Amino acid sequence: MERIYLDHAATTPLDKKVLDKMMPYFTENFGNADSPHAIGRRAVNAVDDARDRVAERLGVKANELYFTSGGTEADNWAIVGGAYAQKAKGKDHVILSSIEHHAALYAAEKLEKEGFSVTYLPVNDGGMVEVNALQNVMTERTGLVAVMAANNETGVLQPIENLAKIAHEKGALFFTDAVQAAPYIPLCIKQWGVDMLSFSSHKFYGPKGCGMLYVKSGVKIERFIGGGEQERGLRGGTTNVPTVVGFSEAFCKNLDTMDESNEKIERLSKLFLEGISTLKGVTVNGGEKKLPAILNLRVEGVNNVDLLYKLDLKGVCIAVGSACASASVKPSHVLLAMGLTEKETRESVRISFGKDNTEEEIRFAAAAFVETVENLRQFS
Ligand code: PLP
Repeated sequence: MERIYLDHAATTPLDKKVLDKMMPYFTENFGNADSPHAIGRRAVNAVDDARDRVAERLGVKANELYFTSGGTEADNWAIVGGAYAQKAKGKDHVILSSIEHHAALYAAEKLEKEGFSVTYLPVNDGGMVEVNALQNVMTERTGLVAVMAANNETGVLQPIENLAKIAHEKGALFFTDAVQAAPYIPLCIKQWGVDMLSFSSHKFYGPKGCGMLYVKSGVKIERFIGGGEQERGLRGGTTNVPTVVGFSEAFCKNLDTMDESNEKIERLSKLFLEGISTLKGVTVNGGEKKLPAILNLRVEGVNNVDLLYKLDLKGVCIAVGSACASASVKPSHVLLAMGLTEKETRESVRISFGKDNTEEEIRFAAAAFVETVENLRQFS
């Protein structure tokens, strides 16, 4: 059976042209990027080139960019490493939005256990952090503020530039998790004024297992993974050269095609909503300012897990909440923070479109969605 993949916020397929660029670094150019001989130099040249290309496209310096094993590691490192560096200055208070990804929430819970105080910022019913909410909880002891650029469950964009300004007024660092934003909006690091930013290659048709953390020159963060002296002594571990090469290729390619892809995705999202418009009791979770690629829908009277599995049987792949939580039955912390009841969160599904979806697929998926919802409602 042909599968219709509508779960691009969980991951995207690896672009075959990106894979072609990676392949030589698995085989003939297999060297360790730390080896000084010719085979090692081929590897280190590839890593340097990959970092330079990304830096140029971001308008930052190459030595402000660190390769990691993915978004999770980059988030953990930014929050834990940033908080500890700030603690040395007497700042032991950390602020996170309540809708952060589990990678960030985990890091904050760890800090709390280790004696930091942590404040979680509320969001409005549209899923956005309000700037005043941050203003109200900032203190002289606040060392780090973390708010994601776009939410992974709703796609809602956050007012990063204004939040970063407020954090800086009290001498705190500002970190944004841009893992979901990176495929769809340019990362305006300088304009946003962030000190740290994370993103991950498998969200923009690159390989899994490779992420990046931007750390502004002059900002001190503690090392997270010790061992070798890789990544300028801050992140130990033999560099995964093929994925680094794939990261930069996918990132540059994604930027080159971003406008065109976004236009198409917006059209597909509208087409899907039109296709299900005969259904009553369906609402979009999340306010106006959001990524068109992610559609979080509440379908009254329908259990989201039942809907996911019934659609899977029809060949349509969607998600409930984030990928990490899909297999668990926990209600979405993001939707709860937006004021939905636990029952309402269990009626909510995430559909996320990609640049390679076709109109035909979307028409089929919408029809399957309508039929499945009607069936489930009939038997519930
Ligand atoms: N942050 C956000 C917002 C995400 O959506 C994800 C992945 O879904 C991550 C972090 C983790 O990234 P990775 O899968 O590369 O570890």
